Amino acid sequence: MAAVVVEGRAGVTTILAGYLRRPCAQRIHEHMSVRVRFAPSPTGPLHMGGVRTALYNYLFARKHGGQFLLRIEDTDQTRYVPGAEEYIKESLDWCGLVPDESPWKGGPDGPYRQSDRKGLYKQYADELIAKDKAYYAFDTPEELEAMRARLQAAGVAAPAYNAVTREHMKNSLTLSADEVKERHARGEQYVIRLKVPRHAEVRFEDIIRGWVVVHSANIDDKVLFKSDGMPTYHLANIVDDHLMRITHVIRGEEWLPSAPLHVLIYEAFGWERPAFAHLPLILKPDGNGKLSKRDGDRLGFPVFSLDWYDPTTKEKSSGYRERGYYPEAFINMLALLGWNPGTDQEIMSLDELTKLFDLERVHKGGAKFDPEKTKWFNQQYLRMRPDAELGSQLQAKLKASGINATLERATSAAVLLKERATFVDDMLEGAYLFTNGSPLTDNATANEELRKRWKPEVAPAIEAYIDRLASLSPFEPVMLEPAFNEVLQEKGMKVGQVMPIYRLFVAGRMQGPGMFDVSALLGKDEVVLRLKAGLDLCRSWA
Ligand code: GLU
Repeated sequence: MAAVVVEGRAGVTTILAGYLRRPCAQRIHEHMSVRVRFAPSPTGPLHMGGVRTALYNYLFARKHGGQFLLRIEDTDQTRYVPGAEEYIKESLDWCGLVPDESPWKGGPDGPYRQSDRKGLYKQYADELIAKDKAYYAFDTPEELEAMRARLQAAGVAAPAYNAVTREHMKNSLTLSADEVKERHARGEQYVIRLKVPRHAEVRFEDIIRGWVVVHSANIDDKVLFKSDGMPTYHLANIVDDHLMRITHVIRGEEWLPSAPLHVLIYEAFGWERPAFAHLPLILKPDGNGKLSKRDGDRLGFPVFSLDWYDPTTKEKSSGYRERGYYPEAFINMLALLGWNPGTDQEIMSLDELTKLFDLERVHKGGAKFDPEKTKWFNQQYLRMRPDAELGSQLQAKLKASGINATLERATSAAVLLKERATFVDDMLEGAYLFTNGSPLTDNATANEELRKRWKPEVAPAIEAYIDRLASLSPFEPVMLEPAFNEVLQEKGMKVGQVMPIYRLFVAGRMQGPGMFDVSALLGKDEVVLRLKAGLDLCRSWA
């Protein structure tokens, strides 16, 4: 049987062999009540990888009629960043991934913030000591450093406090019971470490990766309880998952090296452990390494859900929300970063995703992030919005730039403009549909374009078109198009010769909706005025 072997030390993962898909031990039983959690640490803004973890947890819970919990893991006070917890809440709210139980909503297994659970971890560390699965260690930082230096000098590449080295350190395994008692009585500082078995094979089936097998010699005696009276991440995480009755731990690949240690902690307690599913990394667009916080600003796309202002550096990192993305588009894109429904379907609402999602279809290879595809998703969602909604958003944006428009007119314009828009803001390109007078006035770019394209022989065609327009009724695209074509025929000109000039005269730009639609929206008088102004300008150059 092929297996994934993880060398679980200091975040190093080495895959030595193949893997086995679809472990059967963790299939969901009919009567199993699924409970999953998203457990972020409030150390900064939520990276989109974090949102994807929350999303997969949410989808899995919904699909199986279970609960999705949110737990704030803030035991490491030194890494706490003010505002990060609020940010997490706001991000999940924006994405529509509202947890069933959380610090803000409460629930049967609360509190859901580890700093509010501080008091309960010590008894579990004590329980492991009583079971001889953990021990007190009194080593000072200097002693630890000396140990490392000694081992390094002896040629050990990654010195660790483990089943071998603990024999030579100051801990309750090497000191007499009386001495341990005395040290406690003196109030000497200590930590509690896990007593990792010396010769054991740690194995578990990961839903995404298959069998993971690690020899315990590769796992060090991790600190479970710190001298400051706080549990470490590892202890708090396991105790809480157990007390909160978590059935499936779905989290990022960066936690895979910790999983064997977690399995050992469950075994030490004698608790049934949840199933594990470690999600693939999100890679940079070129596939070269993990997408980092800095990539966004470097490559010009957001990596966070919302804008974030670093409270210390005052630096701003941009978010999808403020860039004008729809949360539905953001979520849809994230769902497909590591998973697919097995068909070509790409556009899926949260409800559809819930029906289709399956952890066993999550792939283990890294998922390349594609900023262009992300924009494509937004474009698709924008096109699906009701015209009236886009109209009123366009109306508001126009107003902010000093242009008044009726809702009716803004809606008609939005219908035309949405085809080329990725964001609502892009529709402001069509501001010329709402202003009066020639769009060439004070428009250097348009003037330059026109100078390149203008040929005096186009003038008679434009003049003839102006004449036709005078008697045209109704002033609709179906009438405008044949009128234009007749003029071309009459003057022996091609569309490509006249249309760009028509477009620059009336719209002042080379891109945009069809000119017959644009003209109908502007109305006869305005179109004629702009065509004449354009002709006057070009003639003034002669
Ligand atoms: N607090 C950890 C984090 O910040 C949670 C890891 C886990 O889900 O177990 O990602």
